[in-house]
Amino acid sequence: MRLIRFFTLCLLILAAFVFAKTITVGTSADFPPFEYIENGQFVGFDMDLMREIAKLANLELKFVDMSFDSLIPALRAGQIDVAAAAMTITDERRQVVDFSKPYWTADQSIIVKADSDLTITVLFQKGKIGVQTGTTGDLWCTDNLVGKGLLPEKNLKRYDTFVLALSDLLNGNIDAIVLDSPVGNRFAAVKPVKVVGVIVTGEQYGIVVKKGNKELLDKINSALEVLIETGKMAELIDKYF
Ligand code: GLN
Repeated sequence: MRLIRFFTLCLLILAAFVFAKTITVGTSADFPPFEYIENGQFVGFDMDLMREIAKLANLELKFVDMSFDSLIPALRAGQIDVAAAAMTITDERRQVVDFSKPYWTADQSIIVKADSDLTITVLFQKGKIGVQTGTTGDLWCTDNLVGKGLLPEKNLKRYDTFVLALSDLLNGNIDAIVLDSPVGNRFAAVKPVKVVGVIVTGEQYGIVVKKGNKELLDKINSALEVLIETGKMAELIDKYF
């Protein structure tokens, strides 16, 4: 009897080591090359980065797709454990969630249809500009164009996803989109759009966890260090950029 109890205990301890903990990773999969869906799979730099972190930290991942502005509320409500969504580290966001070490630097870019001849001066005063709700592109346009009285508020159109913004740009419903420069470059390479200007913001991306989730954040940060040291990070950059 005692022997059975002993073996059961050993088995339980072993199971705790062998079975990885599953964490839920929220993303907004409309942001190539960082996160997008291909053949029904979550792919992109951030998705692979999370998969590499998970291997090192003995975690299982479950990805969920949502609008970008739902990610922080979902983290705070405990519906997701991590947000991996090319999210810029900002002071406002830092007050409500915790960020990993920075893993990417970007600017904002302005994209227009490939055959457009609208200049930035015209766009920023009378253009119809699309942004994704709650992104740093939205914040920049709100503060610097609408807030300074340059662009009428009604000319700034906020979208849940870039898929919708892009189709409105291609249909001629809006004149430009302001978005992160790596994604603007990717859209310009694969869609009939071009980059007409860059706003240097030097923003940095971090992986996001619920405020105070130090255990998970420590695992993510140590894994990031290992990925940089082992050259795995460079490999992922090569794969997607
Ligand atoms: N980096 C931008 C931000 O954090 C946009 C991110 C995104 O749209 N996925 O606001």
